[in-house]
Amino acid sequence: MTEKAGLCGPDGSAKRKKTLEEIRKINGNKESLPLAYCVVYGCQQNEADMENIRGMLAEAGYAFTDNPSNADCIVVNTCAVREGAETRVFGNVGAFKQIKEARPELVICICGCMMQQEKVVNKIKKSFYYVDIVFGTHNIEKFPELLLKKLKGQKRVFEIEQESERIAEDMPVLRDRENMAKVTIMYGCNNFCSYCIVPYTRGRERSRDEEKILHEIKLLAQQGYKEVTLLGQNVNSYGNDRGEKNAFAVLLSKINKIDGIERIRFMSSHPKDFSDETIAAIAECEHVCKHIHLAMQSGSSRILKLMNRKYDKESFLALMEKIKTSIPGVSLTTDIIVGFPGETDEDFEETVEVLEKVRFDSIFSFIYSPREGTPAANMEDNVSKEEKQKHFDRLLEVQNRITHEKALECLGHTFTVLTEGRSKENGEYLTGHTDGFKLVHFKGDDSLIGKMVKVKIVIARTWYLMGELEEGENNE
Ligand code: SF4
Repeated sequence: MTEKAGLCGPDGSAKRKKTLEEIRKINGNKESLPLAYCVVYGCQQNEADMENIRGMLAEAGYAFTDNPSNADCIVVNTCAVREGAETRVFGNVGAFKQIKEARPELVICICGCMMQQEKVVNKIKKSFYYVDIVFGTHNIEKFPELLLKKLKGQKRVFEIEQESERIAEDMPVLRDRENMAKVTIMYGCNNFCSYCIVPYTRGRERSRDEEKILHEIKLLAQQGYKEVTLLGQNVNSYGNDRGEKNAFAVLLSKINKIDGIERIRFMSSHPKDFSDETIAAIAECEHVCKHIHLAMQSGSSRILKLMNRKYDKESFLALMEKIKTSIPGVSLTTDIIVGFPGETDEDFEETVEVLEKVRFDSIFSFIYSPREGTPAANMEDNVSKEEKQKHFDRLLEVQNRITHEKALECLGHTFTVLTEGRSKENGEYLTGHTDGFKLVHFKGDDSLIGKMVKVKIVIARTWYLMGELEEGENNE
């Protein structure tokens, strides 16, 4: 894949820099520092995109505020995966109308997956006339250009591309967290699961150059980052679009050798692409976390076929067994959709059976809701709301028991935890995750934030563990 002309690659970043400089000059003429308010919905990929948008805003001279009423620029990065998120986005954007009426110079921007849907853009054009800039998932690197057009007087700016082969490199980035960074390794998805909108909103798979990923992670290590999460809709097909074999396993082993990076995580993974080479790389690389999140979605082969997942119950169970044997102590998590069109009691019981067999450490479960524009939205949905809810409750009951039993297994054991900060619920405690992604709270002073510490687990709750620092053992 080659970078095309535009705001990407060396030429693109030079042009982008110039544009950002021009916006900075315009902002410099204002009486006070301009403020930006950013809100993001959806997945980690959206959060990573927002880190780039915030990076561009910072370079353009904006500071940030948590209060939209004070903002000079509002950016909303949207998600199209769930209907609930869409309703919330429209509700929130509606609330900005009053602020815009009071201060017409405010610039309101909306971007992200929802903007790849024509009906949404039409709705914004018609009903949300106070929204100034709309751009899609393929146009993020053009944000400075669009903002400049608006600041120079253009009434409304719309920039949406349906498909793109471009990968923007060298974008400014303002990361959300210290010590832990998200690194996108690929964009898009080729899988077309029948319920999912992502291939339509994010396009086909495009992998970043290995060299550029490694360069970014080396820089992160130099800046003191300890953990990286490699992002992509389906990271284990990394490199497939360039005809490379086992490129994800190779990438993991190369990142594993970067000095200073203590932990490597990745998401999301598709069971059909989870190769023996990737399993071996996870087992062998000391810094790759022994935690694998593999979305199963259903335990019924019949439903998996309707979902177009391209694996069945038996092959999924075989994969889980292979992973457990090859990576002793591995922590496993999954996603489950309850109430897919046509799901019978028998289909649901097969999902429960798989939960009991695999014993995931935790699951993310969702009640199915149709997304317009996907094949599943046209399937007859003959599962009643009550039935869906009944199955969902039972699923949680089964999994909560297993999750609690898994937590109890940690009692008395010592884990290495990357200290992420103070617990939001109780500031007395520091908080962090184990290698297997279990949340741990423990007492300690702020000097431990950003450090790898050893914590002995003394209390096990279903959703978190409480521990004590091991005396004299705490070093990086
Ligand atoms: S693998 Fe399936 S569920 Fe995941 S992003 Fe691609 S189409 Fe959607």
